[in-house]
Amino acid sequence: MSNKQKHSFQAEVAQVLHLVTHSLYSHPEIFLRELISNASDACDKLRFEALHDPALYGDQPQLEVRISFDKEARTLTVTDTGIGMSEQEAIDNLGTIAKSGTRAFAAKLSGDDKADSQLIGQFGVGFYAGFIVADKMTVESRRAGLPPEQGVRWVSDGSGDFEVETITRAERGTSVILHLRDDALEFADGWRLKELIGKYSDHISLPIKMEGEKWEEAEQEGQPGRMVKTGEWETVNQANALWTRPKKDVTDEQYVQFYEQLAHDWQPPLAWTHNRVEGSTEYTQLLYLPSHAPMDMWDRDRRTGVKLYVKRVFIMDDAEQLLPRYLRFVKGVVDSADLPLNVSRELLQESRDVKIIREGNTRRVLALLEDLAKAPAGEQPAEGAEAKTDGDQAPADKYATFWREFGAVLKEGLGEDTGNRERLLKLVRYASTQSDTPTVGLADYKARMKEGQKAIYYITADTLAAAKNSPQLEIFRKKGIEVLLMTDRVDEWSLGFVREFDGTPLQSVAKGAVDLGDLQDEAEKKAAEEAAEAVKPVLDRLKAALKDQVEDVRVTTRLVDSPACLVVKDAGMSMQLARMLKQAGQDVPQTKPVLEINPEHPLVKKLEGSAHFDDLAHILFDQALLAEGGLPDDPAAYVRRVNALLV
Ligand code: ADP
Ligand code: MG
Repeated sequence: MSNKQKHSFQAEVAQVLHLVTHSLYSHPEIFLRELISNASDACDKLRFEALHDPALYGDQPQLEVRISFDKEARTLTVTDTGIGMSEQEAIDNLGTIAKSGTRAFAAKLSGDDKADSQLIGQFGVGFYAGFIVADKMTVESRRAGLPPEQGVRWVSDGSGDFEVETITRAERGTSVILHLRDDALEFADGWRLKELIGKYSDHISLPIKMEGEKWEEAEQEGQPGRMVKTGEWETVNQANALWTRPKKDVTDEQYVQFYEQLAHDWQPPLAWTHNRVEGSTEYTQLLYLPSHAPMDMWDRDRRTGVKLYVKRVFIMDDAEQLLPRYLRFVKGVVDSADLPLNVSRELLQESRDVKIIREGNTRRVLALLEDLAKAPAGEQPAEGAEAKTDGDQAPADKYATFWREFGAVLKEGLGEDTGNRERLLKLVRYASTQSDTPTVGLADYKARMKEGQKAIYYITADTLAAAKNSPQLEIFRKKGIEVLLMTDRVDEWSLGFVREFDGTPLQSVAKGAVDLGDLQDEAEKKAAEEAAEAVKPVLDRLKAALKDQVEDVRVTTRLVDSPACLVVKDAGMSMQLARMLKQAGQDVPQTKPVLEINPEHPLVKKLEGSAHFDDLAHILFDQALLAEGGLPDDPAAYVRRVNALLV
């Protein structure tokens, strides 16, 4: 009796299959990494479910992966004793892609096989990598807890559809049987497989077993001998969790390999820190700084972040309680001896131990960053964390890389983590009027401050060009005073939490009146006062003309080449932030800016006695708005006024 059912692959799967077989064939070996990773996931899942229901183990307590091959039959089989799949699960999990990642996956394919082959595991489509080497895949499985006669066989040749039938399977777990293509027979070889397991899967914390082989001489003289199976299964990987080994026993290469598997990232990490923490709460942490931001930020389900283990039992992916949000780029493992095995996400939120671990993790990551940033002499040394790094990038270059990829995320910490704000302030970097790249630290800035300068000046804008060309910078540029140029969306918000750095206040050049204090000499001050006096009658008329647009009109010394600019009052929200919030659909309290005018500018001088005073006043205001990235409320009126003057 046949109970075979035919199913079609979800359209996206068919697309992935096509990609797999047509673009990844030059790196066929990655299929093994993916299948072993799935086997390992399946064992983790069983271990976890069995915490609540130990009966799931049945009479097979052993969790393991077995890899076997048959040269004659041209098959390679990866078997695990993990959670297995029911018939419906096989249909769902192997016939559809749950996450809507396929399109993005396809879009990322670059045509460079090496890079592309690294993508496949990141997008939750690893299973299909089997079709790189197989023209047919058979999956036989039985879910833990189901009786032997509720096993399932899933078969597909990787084109449009797959077949599913009920089978009897004695063992819990899954066997993936690859029917190797002619050009993939190299994988039906014990040496080759062991080599690949060593390369990709050494740190799977589960034994990977292969049947032993021995050389057998031919019975007839003159005939070649052959390898025969001994019937003994031997473990071919290290099979112990890397983080439990003492640091001195782990090579840099092993750390990097472990990272690659953990993070599904085939570019080496920038640095890592590995510590066993003892005290009231005991735990092991192995935390990595990736060298690039993930390509699939869009996929909120992606398993990243820090994995939580309790006494080596995998508990959950992406345990967001273990690090503050502003360190969400960190990947790694935390293994705690103190948490209960049945810990849930809800419980994590309340646990005192988790709070301690989170603080410990934060300290370590910051110390790691401080090491890379190479805090100048005189700073307190990073507390015992040793930044282990890979490759030959100098630490300073690594920090620049880190900052480029994750700096904007780290800055969120200025607002979120009051306790570590001081440390974070030493880690932040900005562009400035002296550097187009964000490499200027606040300490660097302070060291370059002019005599008599009392504040660290900064400006926020949407783009570097807008920041650099802002009229508000004119006087600073003239006097050679450095101004930090901030263009990340988070800057304005995060600096709202920062009053000062190392005793020096931070001052936005777009907020409040400029008081360059001692930076101005007596002659300059006097000239400014005289000019202000002369322009006074104009001020009142401007105020009247622009009363709907501005809070106040005043004279400034900050402008050199521009006639006017807009600023907000000291405590006000910058106009840039207000615009940003408005774009994000938020209610922004309507605050009017202050119009500052340059009394020395010909246009301003021309105002008095002009027959077009009103038009000029509005043009002045609209241009100031344009100059700092805004748009006139009524652009058509602006154009009309300017044209009227032009003709
Ligand atoms: P991912 O592992 O990222 O989820 P895969 O394409 O590698 O994506 O696997 C798809 C799904 O198939 C898995 O999520 C899992 O539900 C199921 N699966 C694959 N291999 C196994 C296995 N050995 N045991 C149990 N389930 C499996
Ligand atoms: Mg997988």
